[in-house]
Amino acid sequence: MSGLTSGIYLRGNGYDTVIIDLNHTLGGACTGWVRKGCYIDGCIHWLTGTNTNSSYNELWTDTHAILPNTDIYVQEDFSVFDFGGGKKITIWADIDKLENELLTFAPEDAKEIKKFCKMIRRFQTIEGPVDKPVDMMGLGQLIYIGLAMVGDYYWANKTAKIDAAEYGKRFTNKYIRKIFETYMAPGYNLMSMLYMLAHVTDKNGGIPIGGSKAMADRMAAYYTSLGGKAMLGKEVEEVLIDSGRAYGVRLKSGEIIRADWVVSATPVETCLKKLLKDQYKVKSIEERLADIKKYPIYTFSTVAFKVSEDLSNRPLGRHVFLDKPIELDKAYDGITFRNYSYDKTMMRPKGTSVLQASLMGNDDMYFYWKKFKEDGSYREQKEKFGRIMQSAVEEICPELRGKLEIIDIITPCTYERYLHSRNGSFQGFIHTSRGKSLMQKGTIKGLEGFILSGQCIFYSGGLPPAAITGRFAAQRICKADGVKFISPSKEGFRIPDALRRKSIQ
Ligand SMILES: Cc1cc2nc3c(=O)[nH]c(=O)nc-3n(C[C@H](O)[C@H](O)[C@H](O)COP(=O)(O)OP(=O)(O)OC[C@H]3O[C@@H](n4cnc5c(N)ncnc54)[C@H](O)[C@@H]3O)c2cc1C
Repeated sequence: MSGLTSGIYLRGNGYDTVIIDLNHTLGGACTGWVRKGCYIDGCIHWLTGTNTNSSYNELWTDTHAILPNTDIYVQEDFSVFDFGGGKKITIWADIDKLENELLTFAPEDAKEIKKFCKMIRRFQTIEGPVDKPVDMMGLGQLIYIGLAMVGDYYWANKTAKIDAAEYGKRFTNKYIRKIFETYMAPGYNLMSMLYMLAHVTDKNGGIPIGGSKAMADRMAAYYTSLGGKAMLGKEVEEVLIDSGRAYGVRLKSGEIIRADWVVSATPVETCLKKLLKDQYKVKSIEERLADIKKYPIYTFSTVAFKVSEDLSNRPLGRHVFLDKPIELDKAYDGITFRNYSYDKTMMRPKGTSVLQASLMGNDDMYFYWKKFKEDGSYREQKEKFGRIMQSAVEEICPELRGKLEIIDIITPCTYERYLHSRNGSFQGFIHTSRGKSLMQKGTIKGLEGFILSGQCIFYSGGLPPAAITGRFAAQRICKADGVKFISPSKEGFRIPDALRRKSIQ
């Protein structure tokens, strides 16, 4: 996402660009694939910026991630928490409806529920800088933003220091507490939860119809139509540096690609430790890599099922608590389901559905699977996990017994293999209540001609931070070269031959 975004902006600003990726398609984690005639979506659960009033929307329209004819699925019910015994809470994608649902379920917590919903409403108005990096803003713009956002910073800072699960303890209702414990990956702060609920309840977290792969394909097609080049199935081994300036990369095949600029959109640990040979230190990142308790990652173990039944009448997102926990690196007491029947354009045989069942974990979940990779029992363990998950799903939905076929199993090692990400993460570093907010510039002291981008340098990751850092990388390059940065939504791209420069990502 980050690489494609900077590729599009740089190409549109007159640079010759080539995106090098170890996979055979562009899009990185924003992807999907087909197994047994069924499309399995690998990413978007919600996309911040689908609301045309959102400042993020410009990023998606600029890069053709969203075209005028792209349908957006705007969920009514974002997720259903099923506690068993008929006890359920629906997280409605509408703040008034959500507030009502919580008040009806737990009138004893009315005061806290109202306070919480007020905060969600407050967060609906908060959006980070998308237009350009803060350090590239003029004094006037900084003063304007500073004044306009002073209240936002107060709320963001205050809630960033509170753990979401800890916050839940102020509710007396045990089911509401459970939501705070399980909604986000373990360790997330309250601010992250509020941002997510704010976007979703503000109709600003829809899902482009066609899914993640279709979105990445639209961007890739646009990039290619601008004349951007791609080298796929190629692994970068090293960034080539001479006298403190990057001048290209060496691929695993030995091939050398020269360039005036190198942008690394790889996960940040891969870039610093491997591609830059650990020669350059970025303090905020080193701090994170050194303390996985304070800065954990977030990952999934997922089983994808083909279901020989149309599940259109069932919720898209569901979190079901289990009587008998599933043991991996720890005991998981709940399964998160995603039912893809909402999107009729996704490939699957008529009358069938695709259901994904996931457990959400952190670094420890990765270590659990990695050990099987190392002792050679990974495939066997994956199959065992598939059987356990299938039994659990059949117990939760006995009517689906005999209708489930496992079509894929995804673990943190899958993400590591395809993305080269830290501990199988797909979402940057988690912003815990003890951690600090991350807004790395992307420049590295002592290294010219090089920019870091990607979700791992901005906030706690996700598609918007990936795209923002991609745009910022292009802006920094243009600024350093004295090229006026053009954004297509403002002035329309030009590709003037006189400005053609070489750059690579
Ligand atoms: C199951 C799942 C659900 C998600 N849900 C959402 C969601 O609902 N909303 C949201 O905003 N985000 C979501 N995300 C997260 C989102 O996918 C990521 O935040 C985003 O795609 C990250 O983009 P990126 O460009 O920073 O990094 P990546 O997508 O990780 O791209 C890095 C690229 O670098 C390449 N690479 C690595 N090393 C090398 C090398 N040595 N040589 C060549 N290429 C290399 C990789 O192949 C990859 O293409 C989800 C992710 C997953 C997996």
